[in-house]
Amino acid sequence: MTTLLPHKFGPYGGQFVPETLMPALIELEREFVSARNDPAFNAEFDKLMASFVGRPTPLTYARRLSEKLGGAQIYLKREDLAHTGAHKINNALGQALLVKRMSKKRIVAETGAGQHGVASATVAALLGLECVVYMGSVDIARQEPNVFRMKLLGAEVRPVESGTKTLKDAINEAIRDWVTNVRDTHYLLGSALGPHPYPTIVREFQSVIGREAREQMLMDAGRLPDTVIACVGGGSNAIGVFSGFVKDESVELIGVEAGGSGIISGKHAARFGDATKARVGVIHGTRTYVLQDENGQIAETHSVSAGLDYAAVGPEHAMLRDTERAFYTSATDEEALSAFQTLCHTEGIIPALESSHAVAEVIKRAPTMRKDQVILVNLSGRGDKDLNTVIKELGQNL
Ligand SMILES: *Cc1c(COP(=O)(O)O)cnc(C)c1O
Repeated sequence: MTTLLPHKFGPYGGQFVPETLMPALIELEREFVSARNDPAFNAEFDKLMASFVGRPTPLTYARRLSEKLGGAQIYLKREDLAHTGAHKINNALGQALLVKRMSKKRIVAETGAGQHGVASATVAALLGLECVVYMGSVDIARQEPNVFRMKLLGAEVRPVESGTKTLKDAINEAIRDWVTNVRDTHYLLGSALGPHPYPTIVREFQSVIGREAREQMLMDAGRLPDTVIACVGGGSNAIGVFSGFVKDESVELIGVEAGGSGIISGKHAARFGDATKARVGVIHGTRTYVLQDENGQIAETHSVSAGLDYAAVGPEHAMLRDTERAFYTSATDEEALSAFQTLCHTEGIIPALESSHAVAEVIKRAPTMRKDQVILVNLSGRGDKDLNTVIKELGQNL
């Protein structure tokens, strides 16, 4: 049988799944390829992206932040203004339309902070699909407003009590459900992770960010950016914006991981940044960089932002890092919280804590650049969901 899409990114990616799932992955790949070549599918996707998601999202020149930092000119790609408050809806909508096309009626999804769960519940309501979201019980307690949002949207939220009761355990449960119910159920994976074809599908649905941003930069700034910066959890918003510029050799691509309490503290999610714990391994169906202990067990991670708090990174980022087409760094909780406040004060924008990691890198880098240089930052989401965390962290000083 012919392979429709590359299964791997250099040595990374692949399909490390139980045999029972192979037919579903093959069907998904076939359906995706046929959908992308079908003008009717693309027209429906584009129409809903405009009328429901609110695309194109704007590009905002950050005048006061640029002046304050005194170096490069800074532009923000405003995924925070997409419906449900982050980029995740782009992928959720695309996959949900594939579900309709496959004549399946039910989706399962995993969620950590709840953002992907909310995006999944939203598109399920829009398209009339049954939706079950698996969420660790620890995360349910931490992210109550998003649990209510999902329920209001008609989804069932199933608490996961195994392991650390967080995201990786929720993914295990979602996969288990999928294996059992694969005939009528689609696993709506939320980041550029998992077995092929997921990392490619998610990149393609998120590539709208990079396509729009490239065009908007040429219109507004009259040139391409020198540097593109995005935060990297699983890597979907970063791969989406990077994909618009990856062929432009002059554009430097920078991904920012969660530095947590600092790399040497061991409490972080810097998969590329920690030389002692970051090794290539297999997790949730894909081969990539995974934080692990000396026995190969998945290491515990920490970040102030739940969306970056995951032990593995998407396989395409692993390849971009090895080939040095992209570079990866990290920002600590403290740096992200400080950047969060800076953006609030200088631009009137409350960013997600995940996105604040990208802003923290801008704050380090822009002053070292010339005034005629340009940075593009992907502002992956808005900060409304993080207010409780921020109040807890900064309460005394507010
Ligand atoms: C989930 C999330 C992220 C991290 O996920 P990626 O797949 O790495 O993009 C980043 N920002 C926001 C606002 C999120 O909700």
